[in-house]
Amino acid sequence: RGLVSALSSPLDLDGLTLVLEASAGVAVFPEHATEAEGLLRRADVAMYEAKRDRTAVEVYEATRDGNTPDRLGLLADLRRALDAGEVELHYQPKVGFDGTVSGLEALVRWAHPERGRVPPDEFIAIAETSGLMPRLTEYVLETALAQVALWRAAGLTVPVAVNVSPRDVHSPGFAGAVAARLARHGVPPGALQLEITEHVLLEDPQQAADTLAGLTGHGVKMSLDDFGTGYSSLVHLRRLPVSELKIDRSFVARLAVDTEDAEIVRCTVDLAHSLGLLVVAEGVEDDETWERLRDLGCDAVQGWLVAAAMPPGETTAWLRAREIPAPRALSSGP
Ligand code: C2E
Ligand code: CA
Ligand code: CA
Ligand code: CA
Repeated sequence: RGLVSALSSPLDLDGLTLVLEASAGVAVFPEHATEAEGLLRRADVAMYEAKRDRTAVEVYEATRDGNTPDRLGLLADLRRALDAGEVELHYQPKVGFDGTVSGLEALVRWAHPERGRVPPDEFIAIAETSGLMPRLTEYVLETALAQVALWRAAGLTVPVAVNVSPRDVHSPGFAGAVAARLARHGVPPGALQLEITEHVLLEDPQQAADTLAGLTGHGVKMSLDDFGTGYSSLVHLRRLPVSELKIDRSFVARLAVDTEDAEIVRCTVDLAHSLGLLVVAEGVEDDETWERLRDLGCDAVQGWLVAAAMPPGETTAWLRAREIPAPRALSSGP
């Protein structure tokens, strides 16, 4: 706890005060595991609980550990669902304060034949710990780029953002594979954005740096997702070649009622702008939060207030309904 609070005290950087949040996971010997590897894995599970709930310290609880036989069954089903094309993408708009659509985020949706909708957080965690992640990402990229090509052919040139996992960024051929896929679909690299989290730097920072440099070298844009929930955000920000930062929903949700969260958002917007990054706030659900974010100088918002993630057809209709005829088109005479 001492370590966590030491890391959480505000940092003063050239007049910018920054508040960092640290989280720790605890596993107890011999209750939770008798060997080091098992203990570390369980402490890790507890740490992610702590991060998600922003509770600083969590002690491992077997009942909350996802790796049950039930989940292993789900993994086999997911593998089949990907092969059968049962996994779908929905698209959620990122919108500027003047109403401009700056992009669409692709979010996976899986309707399991017996269990019904399985939340992405759940099956993505399974894919991540099982080696299925590259297959899932490949599927999402393929589906999203095919959709972007269709939209472009129909005159809708909105960029699409795809979430990628640390696993993808650590696979050596990833940047080249993305470039090849873009070329195959005839989609310009600038129409694709990849959302990464700070977790990409935890395991093999050199491989991650190489992959990200490769991607930006090809012209693909990078966005730093879930900002504020990671370890040492400042160091990571300097090392990641991102052009956009997304403020995590957990800070945005209580922005209008919690002065500390409002302060964190203000600092993040200022910091991002001083580094030349665009700032997107995620999880905007009401007008008051929207207004606060606009006043804080945020660049764009994403959230149910604007639109939830929609299936492709509905997304097309949504984009069309917002299309404002260009003045050039109106004045072009015979
Ligand atoms: P994320 O990238 O932070 O995505 C935002 C999540 O917030 C989405 O949940 C979205 O539906 C939800 N959301 C959007 N607006 C609002 C709002 O106003 N209020 C609230 N309460 N929630 C909102 P979803 O779709 O359940 O996805 C959860 C997470 O799963 C995503 O978090 C992302 O980390 C992961 N994910 C989703 N699709 C993919 C994918 O294709 N690949 C990978 N690697 N991860 C994915
Ligand atoms: Ca995301
Ligand atoms: Ca996010
Ligand atoms: Ca999130």
